[in-house]
Amino acid sequence: EKPSPAKGRVTPMMAQYIEIKTANPDSLLFYRMGDFYELFFEDAEIASQSLGITLTKRGKHNGDDIPMCGVPVHAADDYLQKLIGLGHRVSVCEQTEDPAEAKKRGSKSVVRRDVVRLVTPGTITEDRLLDAKRNNFLASLARVKGGSAADGNLYGLAWIDMSTGMFRVAESDDVRLAADLARIDPSELVLADALLQETELRATVEGLGAALSPVPRTFFDGANAQDRLSTYFSVGTLDGFAHYTRAELIAASGILAYIDKTQLGERPPLDPPVKEAAAGQLLIDPATRANLELTRTLSGERRGSLLSAIDKTVTGAGSRLLASRLAGPLTDPEQIRHRQDTIAFFASDTMQREDIRGLLKSAPDMSRALSRLAVDRGGPRDLQSIAFAMKSAREIAGLLASGGAYPQEVGFAVQKLEQAPHALGEKLGIAIAEEPPLLKRDGGFVAPGYNPDLDELKALRDQSRKVIAQMQADLAEELGIRSLKIKHNNVLGWFMEAPTAQCDPMKDDPARFIHRQTMAGAMRFTTTELADLESKIASAGERALAIELEIFNELTKAVVAAGGLIKAAAEALAILDVSTSLAVLAEAENYSRPTVDGSLAFTIEGGRHPVVEQALRKTGEPFVANNANLGPEESYENGQIWLITGPNMAGKSTFLRQNALIAVLAQMGSFVPATNAHIGVVDRLFSRVGAADDLARGRSTFMVEMVETAAILNQATDRSLVILDEIGRGTATFDGLSIAWAAIEHLHETNRSRSLFATHYHEITALSQRLERLNNATVRVKEWKGDVVFLHEIVEGAADRSYGIQVAKLAGLPKTVVSRAQKILKQLEEQDTNKPSEKLLDDLPLFASFSQPLETIPEPEEEENYVSNELAELLDSFDPDDMTPRQAQEALYALKQKQ
Ligand code: ADP
Repeated sequence: EKPSPAKGRVTPMMAQYIEIKTANPDSLLFYRMGDFYELFFEDAEIASQSLGITLTKRGKHNGDDIPMCGVPVHAADDYLQKLIGLGHRVSVCEQTEDPAEAKKRGSKSVVRRDVVRLVTPGTITEDRLLDAKRNNFLASLARVKGGSAADGNLYGLAWIDMSTGMFRVAESDDVRLAADLARIDPSELVLADALLQETELRATVEGLGAALSPVPRTFFDGANAQDRLSTYFSVGTLDGFAHYTRAELIAASGILAYIDKTQLGERPPLDPPVKEAAAGQLLIDPATRANLELTRTLSGERRGSLLSAIDKTVTGAGSRLLASRLAGPLTDPEQIRHRQDTIAFFASDTMQREDIRGLLKSAPDMSRALSRLAVDRGGPRDLQSIAFAMKSAREIAGLLASGGAYPQEVGFAVQKLEQAPHALGEKLGIAIAEEPPLLKRDGGFVAPGYNPDLDELKALRDQSRKVIAQMQADLAEELGIRSLKIKHNNVLGWFMEAPTAQCDPMKDDPARFIHRQTMAGAMRFTTTELADLESKIASAGERALAIELEIFNELTKAVVAAGGLIKAAAEALAILDVSTSLAVLAEAENYSRPTVDGSLAFTIEGGRHPVVEQALRKTGEPFVANNANLGPEESYENGQIWLITGPNMAGKSTFLRQNALIAVLAQMGSFVPATNAHIGVVDRLFSRVGAADDLARGRSTFMVEMVETAAILNQATDRSLVILDEIGRGTATFDGLSIAWAAIEHLHETNRSRSLFATHYHEITALSQRLERLNNATVRVKEWKGDVVFLHEIVEGAADRSYGIQVAKLAGLPKTVVSRAQKILKQLEEQDTNKPSEKLLDDLPLFASFSQPLETIPEPEEEENYVSNELAELLDSFDPDDMTPRQAQEALYALKQKQ
């Protein structure tokens, strides 16, 4: 129930609270009370539970206790972090006037307060709230009516990293949407509340794991989109920017409207939105992305993912760029080659590479510092970060400039580093003290020598005692009063004191010595000189701080004004970090440069699994490299399917995944774990591996498997790479076998994708006799004294046995169970004389059916065949030329009955 101020007696403060809370209903309200942020009512209950802090009471509302909890202002960031991490939003409400002002209006007046900021998972900029290695994206999703997506819906996507100013837009459609969102991987998604009401769309966006922020439809109003964008970037027209589609414009304007709402008018400096061409990226749907553990493992951790295995970057910005390149591999061979050139360049010049990396290591996160400064949340350390990073940038530019001819990417980077505002960087270096405090209001961050007025004030403040001691000595000497002292107390401030008997020289000169107080045995005086000194000392600290703040503002302004150049330099540093780190990786892990082109080749020689290989190294076991060849052979144009059989634990999944990962690495522009690789760019990557229940959505393992398999069979093209592991396993043997069998036929005849298919149904290997581009492969095992030894070597051919019982034995199944299983198996094998796969091959006229459109394949079920035979007989018996109308009608009824 909403607290209502109308009922009962409400204190003025509570009335104000309720008013503010009502205006900010969908967030927790941090209400500033002196040194605390306090939360009331339901907010207090949620916060106390989430934060593990005590829930107390303050006053009554409508006769009930008001639940309350509070967090100290100085520690608020930690609490914010926790709440945001849990997906909450927080409105921060500050006092916007001096409490003294409120008192002037009357004793009952409440201090004015206002929400100054809405903190949401996608809009944070504080270092402590951010992961240095991850982009923190706020994304928006707009659906556009009358769009041009041929069938289905057209979507606009916009995403922003507020901590760096990065801004992107793209179009999407029903087929791509889930994959696009998964690639962006936002921490918060803004969309019209009406869209969230739609079951299917809701399931898609909920699967993301992002905080969902529904907003009114007006945020995505097409009529105002253009204006909102040009207003934000203070340009009269968007002509100078890229040409955006309607969908992109609407998504971009929606996200800007949301920023307006959360930042309350502050405008974080964003780059003009960059269009991300849908066609330029390898499409990886969410299930594949998750299964292949590209940027995080299935359990959600970075450790154990491909990203963590290849990440040798030394800066946060580099790590973020690497992650985004891995999440969105390219499809343009030329672009890919440019990236490879850069890596090759740094792979050959290791001296220069190590020098650059040494400098990068000490370069702070410039773009995040810049963004904080621009939204007035920056501190002295942010200015220092920019100074340090610019120094590194300068030195790196110096290293490279003397080098000579560069690959394209390096050339661009050098240019950006050279164009950075170095004079400003140097100025910052001189201005900011060595170890500045976190907050500007603490002062003491301007380096000595930067501003003479400030130095004088500080000297005065710091040396006040010395100055006074000097004055005391001078006066004692001049007046001949040995025991004259200059003292300080809170009532009189500074004064000079001498024993009454010796005070004559001062009493005699009242124009100079002003009498302040007579004590028992002593008198106190002051002089204009001392009073001046006193007020100077008292205000020196204050004035010093004011000057420091002025310097801070002036420097911040200059930094923000040069923001574009600074950001470009930061980007250049990130590119150098990524390229040098991939070169380090290639060298350390023995990766090679793949050939990536427009063909349909997929030839991997000596391929390895990048993550398993590293994990095995720790155990001392060698990783067995394997070849794969899925490209077209001379006699046919399309790629091949490799059907891999072999016992559990032999290494089938590892082989499947490693080939998918090699493709991803190759297309993100990296070198790959293989001695040789030739890959014709893959347009979409599909994988069905592992089986995890999706209980959250109420789907069984089998259902998940079938949904994912359906997506593959419906969407894969001859440019795609398809990895299918053990489909059909989650159901009864014959069901499973049939599904796997049919899926392979479909892949071979319709999708024609380059595919790897692992199965434990040995029967399916018979299909290679019929399907020309289907090849059987198996993982070699050796039997040794009744045990199996896995050789992890992929060879041509089909597995002869499944060795399930031997594997079970390895796993420690009780001996009695193992030997009993062996007996049962033997009996089953003896009974199994009718070889189902041979029969299947004979009975199913596969090719005939695939030459027709898929929808018209006749169901092979017997009962229906029987029915249709009867119908045929009946039809045969009719002779239309010899029928009366009445007979014809009867014949129709007869036919209908047989249906
Ligand atoms: P399967 O899918 O056939 O059940 P996995 O691919 O899961 O088998 O492999 C089982 C284990 O074998 C892996 O965890 C890994 O430690 C090891 N392994 C797999 N492939 C190789 C290889 N090529 N070289 C060395 N060890 C391997």
